[in-house]
Amino acid sequence: MARTGTDHAGARLEIDLGAIQANYRALKARARGAVAAVVKADAYGLDAGIVAPALAAAGARQFFVAHLDEALALRPLLPEAEIFVLNGLPAGAEADCAAARVIPVLNSLGQIDAWTALARRDGAALPAAVQVDSGMSRLGLPAAELARIAADPARLDGVALRLVMSHLGCADTPDHPMNRRQLAAFEAARRVLPEAPASLANSSGIFLGPDFHFDLARPGAALYGIAPVAGAENPMLPSVRLMARVIQTREIGAGDAVGYAASWTADGPRRIATVAVGYADGYLRCLGNRATAFAGATPLPLVGVVSMDTATFDVTGAPEVREGGWIELLGPNQSLDALATEAGTIGYEILTSLGGRYARVYADAQPERLIA
Ligand SMILES: *Cc1c(COP(=O)(O)O)cnc(C)c1O
Repeated sequence: MARTGTDHAGARLEIDLGAIQANYRALKARARGAVAAVVKADAYGLDAGIVAPALAAAGARQFFVAHLDEALALRPLLPEAEIFVLNGLPAGAEADCAAARVIPVLNSLGQIDAWTALARRDGAALPAAVQVDSGMSRLGLPAAELARIAADPARLDGVALRLVMSHLGCADTPDHPMNRRQLAAFEAARRVLPEAPASLANSSGIFLGPDFHFDLARPGAALYGIAPVAGAENPMLPSVRLMARVIQTREIGAGDAVGYAASWTADGPRRIATVAVGYADGYLRCLGNRATAFAGATPLPLVGVVSMDTATFDVTGAPEVREGGWIELLGPNQSLDALATEAGTIGYEILTSLGGRYARVYADAQPERLIA
């Protein structure tokens, strides 16, 4: 059990490394090929320095981050792993990338040319992934650049091609026609490029079936417990629980308002608990008058808007909630996905927004110890 932050923190974020490892193993059992771990954005906010080694212990050998600096920070912790940088190679960073044995995802002809120029200077081919745009119009070689490589394959001389990859834009919706269209575009792109292992599926892509698995899947969200298929039962284990400390309670009566802008008014006697978590902690302001916390299984409606450092809950139905006690904002009763729905967003945004003021407690095994 690792612990960061202090006993005085207003809330405790419990991160279940055993659940993350179990999720990795479950995805690996489902995938036809190998399974990497996506640990960008500090492992979706859960601390890549702790989470990535736990995933390596569970068997992950390939890791994906978004930025070169994230890869450089991970390198000493994962000396043997293949670390890929999704956002590509910033101009001028080629030598730093190669020196750390980090594998760039080359997203354009310009990045390919910069990487092969370094390889020529060093006199040895350098490993890289090449990403093609199969229909998301975000990152990767567009069709016109792919055609130029087809016309001049020597353009890739100096690239030791470790992976040809693309990314799905609609994978969480299994019957979306974009999935098959992107799959066809990806297969066509592979025929143009030199023979290399292929990677298309993110978490949700793994659930689209084996046609989408190829040689390496790249899940992130599902490792951390986010539902991979929209509207379906979530097969992943939850990995986080957020417990907030009650810092004050009060009795109010009919007509009393709560919070900024007096957006909620009691229609009778109510007991209100104020907790030390606010929008500065990633408990989004738009949750005001919408979210629910829990005391055991008892739902506690969030009343009023969320302040920067506090939120207020109607605890009339839970007399056991007292000053100094704790209530659950996220956890077995309130999933990331359910809270995200209340906020009009997705679990990814809730997770990556979780703030820096929490005491963080990492449990390293037995999911049931924390997530009961
Ligand atoms: C973020 C990302 C992933 C992981 O996606 P999840 O939906 O979190 O599984 C995989 N591939 C690329 C290119 C990404 O940007």
